[in-house]
Amino acid sequence: MLATLDPTPASPSSFLAEAEAAVAHATSLGANLDRHDAFPTEAIGHLRESGLLKAPLPVALGGIGLCERDQVAALREVLFLVGRGSLALGRLYEGHVNALALMIRYGSATTRERLAGEARDGHLFGVWNTEPDPGGLSLTHDDGLRLEGAKSYASGAGHVTRPLVTARTEDGRRLMLVVPLEPGTRADTTAWRAHGMRATATGTLAFSGMRIDADAVIGAPDDYFRQPIFSCGAWRFLAVQCGGIAAVFEAHRAHLLKTGRGGDPHQRARLGAAATAVETARLFVARAATAAAGAEADPEGAVAYVNLARGAVERAGLDVIELAQRSVGLSGFLEGHPLERRVRDLATYLRQPAPDYALAQAAGHILDAPGPFHALWQNL
Ligand SMILES: Cc1cc2nc3c(=O)[nH]c(=O)nc-3n(C[C@H](O)[C@H](O)[C@H](O)COP(=O)(O)OP(=O)(O)OC[C@H]3O[C@@H](n4cnc5c(N)ncnc54)[C@H](O)[C@@H]3O)c2cc1C
Repeated sequence: MLATLDPTPASPSSFLAEAEAAVAHATSLGANLDRHDAFPTEAIGHLRESGLLKAPLPVALGGIGLCERDQVAALREVLFLVGRGSLALGRLYEGHVNALALMIRYGSATTRERLAGEARDGHLFGVWNTEPDPGGLSLTHDDGLRLEGAKSYASGAGHVTRPLVTARTEDGRRLMLVVPLEPGTRADTTAWRAHGMRATATGTLAFSGMRIDADAVIGAPDDYFRQPIFSCGAWRFLAVQCGGIAAVFEAHRAHLLKTGRGGDPHQRARLGAAATAVETARLFVARAATAAAGAEADPEGAVAYVNLARGAVERAGLDVIELAQRSVGLSGFLEGHPLERRVRDLATYLRQPAPDYALAQAAGHILDAPGPFHALWQNL
């Protein structure tokens, strides 16, 4: 049964109930896709039909304003739900939301109208910033705009038809562009023989020689890296990761219930420690989302909090994996066990850019704070 989001939900709880049903159905369509070269086409199709692909757009552009500041709790819950159902689908959905959020924030009125129309038409968006070094993407002007170089680790390669890419300009700055792509073009996913997150079609995109219209440009040079938005945006992938952490925990719990081993004190201690880690991640993500939504009041503080949350969620994820594997034992390493794929997906998706730098930045902020530590984020 198709669950379709009400464009004017009666209440936040009715929206979340509808979103949960839509995500559950999408996840079921994307099950059994733990294969190299797989992609959750049907699951994305359901997110599209249910309205979740256009939900991030402002109401005036046909969405339900899921990227607005006062909707941060709803967006957090949707990202958590998708991640809990499928981290691969969560990664793709988060990329789509991120691209729409950037386009809404930095695009001109005309660009917003046009790209919102394309989102309503069902195009899948993504953000492709990572690139090979050397060989990254650059933008040249001759008799128009032309792209040279490639993007790497781009999820949805061959499927995302409206990627937001960053490209180096002749003066060394980076410009955002939304590039129209036909499905299956310029993408190479043959190197994505990954431990987990196999169904994300994460690959390399060769853009050399591609001519670009001037209206592909979003915002001004280096807007993509503008703080606090750039670093604070990490809260969204943390919400997806948090869903994946909860899914590993549920497989651990289900195993103890099924095998009747939950009464053992060692098993209980591990389950309790894992539950603490899941809840720690959820609390950090909730506060990180609030910090990001209110970042204008304290930009550096918000960036530091989100960076601190990155380390906390990574630690929680690694702990939950270890505790589950020790409790379930060898059967949790067999293909087909509910834990096995979830652990591989989570371990892979926990790898995000520059984790040491993020923690060091947060530590530096805390060191230099004029007041006591407890006062740093007391308004969150
Ligand atoms: C499933 C999946 C999908 C993805 N999809 C996309 C996508 O659609 N678009 C996109 O842009 N990217 C995507 N990425 C890439 C992602 O954004 C990161 O670039 C990538 O995950 C970085 O992982 P890494 O472990 O190699 O990070 P790194 O930042 O290379 O970190 C590896 C280690 O090196 C350390 N380190 C980092 N920099 C330095 C330095 N200068 N000196 C010394 N040590 C350093 C880190 O702290 C860490 O310990 C995806 C990643 C995954 C896992």
